[in-house]
Order: sequence, then structure tokens, then C-alpha cells
Amino acid sequence: MTFFRDLSHFGYAHEPDLQTALNVGWLSPFMYCPTEPTTLEFRRKLFDLCSRPQLRYYGYQHCMLGLCKFVPRKFIPALWGITASLNGHAITLGAGIIVVRGSTATYAAPDLIYHYVTRHGYRPPTAFIDAVLASPLSPPDRLSVSRLTCA
Ligand SMILES: [Zn+2]
Repeated sequence: MTFFRDLSHFGYAHEPDLQTALNVGWLSPFMYCPTEPTTLEFRRKLFDLCSRPQLRYYGYQHCMLGLCKFVPRKFIPALWGITASLNGHAITLGAGIIVVRGSTATYAAPDLIYHYVTRHGYRPPTAFIDAVLASPLSPPDRLSVSRLTCA
């Protein structure tokens, strides 16, 4: 994973909408990584955002923090992606970038940020947390709707 300091200028993808976006959660071993507990509400909304990343890159990035760097890749499902689950919903992380629009800035973060927060205790900048908390939840998933329709 490429390292970018939190709140530095986002230049990973040349998307016109993201010319002024700021980096959050581009972590790397032995680099600055603040840790502190986060709220359940924040983690729930972050999971929702990471389940529908706005940008995707080719292949999967792998977490290289802590003990994760010692996990043999053959044990990581979905061609190196990392699976995360919440309330029975599973998502594969490692190939997406989420875009979060705050009141004063737009943030771009790898979808692995959910893993970093929940497994490694990473605490993103407060402005990013506030932006995630203010973001709307996605509509109910289609699987539930089709179950209701077919019953
Ligand atoms: Zn990890």
C-alpha cells in the first residue's frame, strides 16, 4: 500500500472531481499511524461506505500492518482481498477507494481503512470522522427487497 500522510493532497487518481481531495488512511508499516478507539456508529457508517467504493483499481492491495504482513497470501480469500463483515454482510476490501464529502473538504481513502480501524485501532482525523458520520446510509440492499417481493 502506498503511504500518504493524512490530510495531504490526494494525487493517487487523476479524477476531475478529486482535484482538491485530501488523503486519509493510506497507511504503511513503520509510518505515522494514530491509534485510538472509535465509536460503533462511525465504524458502521464506514463499513457502509466501504461496501460501495466510488473508485476501483486493478488487483487488490494487501494490509501490511502488524501481524497481517505475516499472513501467507494463499490464506487470503478473493485474490488477496481482505474480507470484513458486519451484521451478516460481508465485503471484500483492498481494491476500492471511498470518497467522503465533508463540510469543508473532500476525503479519499482506501477501502482498507475499515480494516485498519477495526483490526489495528487506527483513528482517522476528526474532520474525516465527522464527514463519515454526516454521510447518508445507503438504501436497503436489493437482496432484502427481492426477498420481500418474492415471498
Ligand atoms: Zn491488517
